[in-house]
Amino acid sequence: MTRDTLGRPLRNLRLSVTDRCNLRCQYCMPEEEYTWLPRNDMLTFEEMAHLVDVFADLGVDKVRLTGGEPLLRRDLDRLVRLLAGNPRLRDLAMTTNGVLLAEQGEALRAAGLHRVTVSLDTLREDRFKALTRRDTHARVLEGIEAVGRSGWPGLKLDTVVMRGVNDDELADLIEYAGRVSAEVRFIEYMDVGGATNWSMERVVSRAEMLSRLEARYGRIAPIVEETSAPADRFRLPDGRVFGIISSTTEPFCRSCDRSRLTADGMWYLCLYATRGMDLRHPLRAGASRDELVSMIRARWQGRTDRGAEARLEMPERRPLVQIAELKRDPHLEMHTRGG
Ligand code: SAM
Repeated sequence: MTRDTLGRPLRNLRLSVTDRCNLRCQYCMPEEEYTWLPRNDMLTFEEMAHLVDVFADLGVDKVRLTGGEPLLRRDLDRLVRLLAGNPRLRDLAMTTNGVLLAEQGEALRAAGLHRVTVSLDTLREDRFKALTRRDTHARVLEGIEAVGRSGWPGLKLDTVVMRGVNDDELADLIEYAGRVSAEVRFIEYMDVGGATNWSMERVVSRAEMLSRLEARYGRIAPIVEETSAPADRFRLPDGRVFGIISSTTEPFCRSCDRSRLTADGMWYLCLYATRGMDLRHPLRAGASRDELVSMIRARWQGRTDRGAEARLEMPERRPLVQIAELKRDPHLEMHTRGG
């Protein structure tokens, strides 16, 4: 196990397979135009699987495919099959917006994907359209329901909660999750990447979410568990469980074991990191496995950052990166590094 200066293990890799997306969520991709990563820079599936195997040498045993929208990467099931064949990976998951899930879910499951998380911010079609600037709400629900019906275990729904946008739907989403055999996780709106419209006023804190849900359901009990998962989980009086990811108001840097690899092979230690490590160039220049392992190990072992906690200590908070910088370096975008 490779640990950093705070004792955090390198265990959990989020692998972004594309920077393209078929939605334009206000909190992630609010602009009209984007600078995309050059196509030739995209890692092939073989390159991705090789890098994942190098990370596995250092202790990574959990991989989550993300994007952009991972289902836009053609033949994704082929990558899943390559990764599922790696016996060192205990957990192979994917985060998707669900638009193409009804079409592709079964093939991915057959290829060996263990579980799926679908981002679902609203149950209302009109709100979905306003939030994402696309008209595909019904397809998302279809995708979620197809997973529920097929009995594929481990389905989660992720909801970014924004004041005045969808914060009146917390209970509705808990009810819906129950109907499709999923667990919902409410995510605090974060000031990362392309969230150029972010402001603290729009954040609904974990404390506020809990007090609103208690008013509706009665006493909510925290579930005590030793995990590095970003969500803290809670139980309603009737036994139903939901999660909250409170990266903005109660960050969890000290127990975070995640790092991120972009589709063009830049490795980031934190969502808030402004610099990453380029693994594509050494890989394509013929670096050996041992050379890649040493580079990655040295970077992780020297790590001291606590991105979200450092943000919390700032007296005045505004979006992390300004538009001009995002245009100059798309790696700073959330849709490039995968959320
Ligand atoms: N396209 C896929 C999806 O929609 O799940 C995967 C990529 S998306 C960048 C991953 C996650 O990041 C989604 O759950 C999304 O809601 C979340 N996300 C993006 N911007 C965010 C922000 N400003 N605050 C909190 N979560 C955000």
